Amino acid sequence: MQTSTEPTTNRAATAAARAQLMLQRTELRDSMDHRMAEASTMRSDVSDGHGETEHLVVAEQHDHAARLDAITRAAIDRIDSGTYGRCIDCGDEIPAERLEILPATPVCVQCQATHERA
Ligand SMILES: [Zn+2]
Repeated sequence: MQTSTEPTTNRAATAAARAQLMLQRTELRDSMDHRMAEASTMRSDVSDGHGETEHLVVAEQHDHAARLDAITRAAIDRIDSGTYGRCIDCGDEIPAERLEILPATPVCVQCQATHERA
C-alpha cells in the first residue's frame, strides 16, 4: 500500500510461497529421517535378499527427496535475493498460477517443456 511501486499482492504471494517452501523442507527432512531410520531397522531384520531391494527403494526415495530439498532450498534463496518468480533459463516471469501449484519451480512452462524433451 502507500506509495510503494511494488505490488502488495506480489509481496504477499512471495511471503506465502516462502512459508510454504520452508514447510515443505521441514516435511522433507522429517520424511528423510524417518525413512533412513526405517531402512536401518529393515536391514537388521531381513536376511533373505528381500532387504536389498527394500534398501534400494529407500535409497531411491531418499535421492528423490534430496533433489526436491535442493530445489526447494534454491527457491528460498531466490526469494531472499529477489529473483523469485522469474525463469532461471529465459528470465521471463513465471505465471502466479504456476507458482501456486509448484512454488519451487525455477523455470517457466516453455523452458520446462524444453527440458523434458531434451
Ligand atoms: Zn523460461
